Amino acid sequence: MKRRELIKGLGLLPLTGGVIGGVLASQPASATPKQHGAKRDLFEELGVTRVINAGVTMTFLSGSLMMPEVMEAINSTCHDFANMYELQDKVGAKMAEMLQCEAAMVTSGAACALLLGTAAAITGKDAQKIKMIPNLPGPRPEVIMQKSHRYLFDQAITTTGAKITEIEGPEEMDKAFNINTVLALFFNAAEQSSVSREDFVALCKKHNIPSFIDAAADVPPVENLFKYQKMGFDLVTFSGGKMIRGPQSAGLLFGRKDLIEAAKLNHSPHEAPIGRPMKVNKEEMFGMYAALKSYLERDHKKEWNDWLDRIERIRKKLESVPTVTGETYVNPGPANAFPSLYISWDQSKVKIKPTEVQSDLQKGNPSIVANVADKDGAKVLNVGVVLLRPDQVDIVAHRVKEILEKAV
Ligand SMILES: *Cc1c(COP(=O)(O)O)cnc(C)c1O
Repeated sequence: MKRRELIKGLGLLPLTGGVIGGVLASQPASATPKQHGAKRDLFEELGVTRVINAGVTMTFLSGSLMMPEVMEAINSTCHDFANMYELQDKVGAKMAEMLQCEAAMVTSGAACALLLGTAAAITGKDAQKIKMIPNLPGPRPEVIMQKSHRYLFDQAITTTGAKITEIEGPEEMDKAFNINTVLALFFNAAEQSSVSREDFVALCKKHNIPSFIDAAADVPPVENLFKYQKMGFDLVTFSGGKMIRGPQSAGLLFGRKDLIEAAKLNHSPHEAPIGRPMKVNKEEMFGMYAALKSYLERDHKKEWNDWLDRIERIRKKLESVPTVTGETYVNPGPANAFPSLYISWDQSKVKIKPTEVQSDLQKGNPSIVANVADKDGAKVLNVGVVLLRPDQVDIVAHRVKEILEKAV
């Protein structure tokens, strides 16, 4: 399913406050705070509805559930101060080693990484420019993008004062480079590309302009964390709070050392620069480091099989309702490339529409967020499993079954 369809499928939900975000879950500590031994239930105290995310990572649904290792990293470091320059450098060096690239840093999300990477390409280490951006004198810096790659997040690029030069095809791209060009951005999950990744990188190298790839939501597979720097992209970003399951307010920016250094100069803890409002504190830094380490060390095959098992468990339960059939759908990616369950039924027998099931699920407490997808021109209910806590798999199956049975 395409992201756009996904978002359409969420029509019932409030979509303000940033739609595309997110993350997932697999073996986090399970159950309610009381069951965790917590003294206080802040959901209850504030009257906030708990949400079960049977979809994909979404910023407005708070991204992912952080891995226990991430919480441990945050909790075990919160009792001491740290020098943030030193911490960013040390965490960055370690992550660069893990990612097999020259340099890395923690940002406040992939959108922040887009902005900082662009700022770095504009200013380099020039203190005067860093002080003035986005109000530099002279013509606006230009960032090359394919027409079909324009997307919501490119406002993070133009926030730096840069403008986007749209191109189509390698020849147009070749001609688009000029004295004002500072960067070229590739949106990895774009539905169509008129310039391949390889040609894109080659043209940037030919014109000596940095290339940047936004792969924010593009793990799994884990190999993608290495793929694009190996291809020759100068900068790469991934969200920290999607399937890597770090803090949702964290992201990774990595690649060429001079650019990462320039990006840091445009960021907090420096007091004035354009990135100061996108502060990252030590919780996100230690947390992001722990999340990346845990993600790289995870048994991805086992995790994948666990997702398939969950789908089977839900499918079996639902297929006990007359005419209901389930089917595993594997999103080809690059974004959200993982399996989920498509559920369909004969609506003359089970008299409810997929969108109505979706809405009933959402209205419950805990609220369950699932999607509606198109399959061969018909709507189907799409239940995601990758963000469920283990104890939520049966809850979701039970609730969907209940709603379908009532409509028989
Ligand atoms: C999620 C996403 C972003 C934004 O990432 P954050 O980490 O939420 O800032 C940017 N680009 C793409 C393609 C995304 O999917």
